[in-house]
Amino acid sequence: MSGFYSIARAPRYALLDAKIPRSLLTIETGQVDREGFARIDLLIEAGRIGAVAPCGAGLADAQAPRLALGGAIVLPLFVDAHTHLDKGHIWPRAANPDGTFGAALDTVAADRLANWGARDVAARMEFGLRCAYAHGTGAIRTHIDSLGPQTAISWPVFAEMRERWRGRIALQASPLFRVDFAFDEAHMREVEAMVEAHGSRLLGAVTYMVPRLAEALDIVFRLAARRGFDLDFHVDETADPAAVSLSMIAQAALDHRFAGRILVGHCCSLAMQGEESMKRTIDLVARAGLDVVSLPMCNLYLQDRREGVTPRWRGVTALHELKAAGVRVMIASDNTRDPFYAYGDLDMMEVWREGARILHLDCPAEPWASALFAAPAQAMGLDAGRLGPGAPADMILTRARSFTELFARPQEDRTVLRAGAPVDAAPPAYAELDRCEGLHP
Ligand SMILES: [Zn+2]
Repeated sequence: MSGFYSIARAPRYALLDAKIPRSLLTIETGQVDREGFARIDLLIEAGRIGAVAPCGAGLADAQAPRLALGGAIVLPLFVDAHTHLDKGHIWPRAANPDGTFGAALDTVAADRLANWGARDVAARMEFGLRCAYAHGTGAIRTHIDSLGPQTAISWPVFAEMRERWRGRIALQASPLFRVDFAFDEAHMREVEAMVEAHGSRLLGAVTYMVPRLAEALDIVFRLAARRGFDLDFHVDETADPAAVSLSMIAQAALDHRFAGRILVGHCCSLAMQGEESMKRTIDLVARAGLDVVSLPMCNLYLQDRREGVTPRWRGVTALHELKAAGVRVMIASDNTRDPFYAYGDLDMMEVWREGARILHLDCPAEPWASALFAAPAQAMGLDAGRLGPGAPADMILTRARSFTELFARPQEDRTVLRAGAPVDAAPPAYAELDRCEGLHP
């Protein structure tokens, strides 16, 4: 299966009459339609985009094979800035008993201790990457649980995966541990060594409102500054308005005059604070230059879950207000088939469709398109997420001609091109996970 379109197996061919969200093009092409799509022709040459011109401007030479897309939407490969490849797919042996955040923490901790040997972690990571690859993702940042003996097990596995997938999916990893572990010098030495040996010059933690949080943040910021690491935090993943670690991270970034990039994920409680407090925090986040990633599917699943009570809150952060304040915002997958989220397939098209509903990323939709492409690429320091002359012909062809058509169906018939050639677009069968202990349903 390689999608709806039959693509010429030619080194040079033309794609005619494609619609691309204007913010995902590196060049101006004149006319855009009322939804914000540029209507263009593309010439593919030797795996790259050779030229881009307004539709019908006479781009393609007569010899090149051509495929008329009839105004269908073409996208760059997705950039998924927040995932957990090491946790993925453990659900059959580690189901969340009540769907709450607390039970997710406990269930994962028990499964990690019992089952996360190198082979188990590698098999599940590989499975997740094959899903993401089939769906058309070109770059992923994963968090790696870095606690006790797990740290030394998982990081070499990650480094091996990064090498195996080089050229197909660009991989980054950030260590994940409760921020108060920053006070444990042996722990921090080991994390530093693992990041140095196997990591992505990225450091991170989960910032619960622990005692001496500001001091713990100082330790993390000092280490990152000393080693030239970027930072990535799990922040305030709760409805409790007293969770204000986001403003503390922003303040720490300003106090340390931190020069690297900082990505903060979740920030759910920001939406539950009063208008004044929220506005103060957002101003601080903008001034500190933090990038914010919302994880709408996971938030909808975990937040506001109480037995016997219908959820009233969607669980997501104040993403519109952050964007309006000039903060770089994005959405991402987060967990897949683990106690933090029972579903998911590292399919960013699903994240976009769900995100559009949960976060109202529409009316209009085009200004939010960068949240799955260019914005996460910039937050990850990658030259990706936009199409234009000279860029690799890595892209997704859909049959949808408008945002309503794009979001109404799962786009399972999309054609994913890598270096101009269609790739197998079928995700792996779950039965392939059966060789992992306890993952047979
Ligand atoms: Zn996460």
